[in-house]
Amino acid sequence: MVNINPDKLNVLKQKILELSIKYTRPENSVRLIGASKTRSADVIKTFYNAGLSEFGENYLDEALKKQASLTHLNITWHYIGSIQSRKTKAIANNFDWVHTVERKKIADRLNQHIKEAGKPPLNVLIQVNIDQEPSKSGVSVHELVTLAKYIADCPYLRLRGLMSIPKARDNFNDQLAIHRQLIDLKKNLEDQLSTSLDSVSAGMSNDMEAAIAAGSTMLRIGTDLFGKRR
Ligand SMILES: *Cc1c(COP(=O)(O)O)cnc(C)c1O
Repeated sequence: MVNINPDKLNVLKQKILELSIKYTRPENSVRLIGASKTRSADVIKTFYNAGLSEFGENYLDEALKKQASLTHLNITWHYIGSIQSRKTKAIANNFDWVHTVERKKIADRLNQHIKEAGKPPLNVLIQVNIDQEPSKSGVSVHELVTLAKYIADCPYLRLRGLMSIPKARDNFNDQLAIHRQLIDLKKNLEDQLSTSLDSVSAGMSNDMEAAIAAGSTMLRIGTDLFGKRR
């Protein structure tokens, strides 16, 4: 039996509340998403019962299995993994948010699947390769505006903001600086699109405080909630 300790949820919620006050963030402007890859459906259910209702999954097949046994729970599902085009239909049909859109082709396919399913527009974030690492996921900074304009014109997608997975940094100031770059990109994008984007998905267990300080609205937390992954 795994040692599931949902007490960590209350500790974390309290910490997010305190940090939100410390950095003068508006009340309830930071959402907590449990990054539940490799965690069982039982673990998700235990945390759901303890008061967590949003979960992020990276691997589609694993996620579908867990979702199938949790249909009776009112969970908001976030897709936070890389997207293969042959899996876009299942992603469109089984998730409320997709954080990792990084190219037109994927946007097109998600848009088409939502249209065919007759569902309301899908909430999407564009993943930005914020550290401009050659082999990493995310649109490059210089291609961001073009992609965002394209997605903004997809009637079945609702562009909500940006997401990034920066390189691990071990001190607060460096973490803050890279998260601020994403916030600045979002502001620039809002000007370019003449629209406001309400979401920034940034911050994991090791850089949560910097993400809150910079203005993240969605923390994706695995380790600090569920313990170390094996
Ligand atoms: C695993 C994962 C997380 C959570 O990471 P922790 O360091 O365990 O909090 C967040 N975002 C993505 C995209 C992940 O894959």
